Amino acid sequence: MNFSDFNLKKEILKRLEEIGFEKPSPIQEKAIPLVLEGKDIVAQAQTGTGKTAAFGLPILNMLENGDKALIVTPTRELAIQVSEEIYRFGKNLGIHTATVYGGSSYNRQISQIKTSQVIVATPGRLIDLLNSGKIDISPKFVVLDEADEMLDMGFLDDIKEIFKFVPNDAQKLLFSATMPKEILNLAKTFLKNPEFVKI
Ligand code: AMP
Repeated sequence: MNFSDFNLKKEILKRLEEIGFEKPSPIQEKAIPLVLEGKDIVAQAQTGTGKTAAFGLPILNMLENGDKALIVTPTRELAIQVSEEIYRFGKNLGIHTATVYGGSSYNRQISQIKTSQVIVATPGRLIDLLNSGKIDISPKFVVLDEADEMLDMGFLDDIKEIFKFVPNDAQKLLFSATMPKEILNLAKTFLKNPEFVKI
């Protein structure tokens, strides 16, 4: 299978060629078509399997002017990594990404959020900003990345709080290395008829 077998925009296919992605990884083969169909998904995949492109490429493909995608990660390090990777994929589309985490300037993050289509955030700072009323995200796409890690770090209540700001009809993707029942419960509560993907 090749990336050109997916119905991706030519700017994205060209970009994948430029960065040397030749073939989709197994998680990408399974997840990309489902996400492009508009399905909510629960995907079991470890770091290093290409999960960022598995959610990032189809989201970039579907983002239209004025839309926002929100990606929630457990740590600042992962937020930075995911944000850089998505920016790299979206370069030919002129996509801007905002990276939002604790311990750095609120004002800069607020202005970044306003001018970015993709927001990658850790839960604590994101909640602060949402509750401050200074940002309005209303995302069309939401990704919980390394969801099991977020639960282990005690972010369940924060995640529930974040979903209060997510429109009902947003497309939601949950990625997790493991699938304990807490993750399945989270999926049951917040996702709509999700497809399950495992590699
Ligand atoms: P991830 O699991 O998203 O952190 O990706 C792990 C690494 O594999 C990153 O450096 C990606 O840029 C790279 N990668 C992801 N998908 C592909 C692919 N289809 N071809 C080549 N490299 C890839």
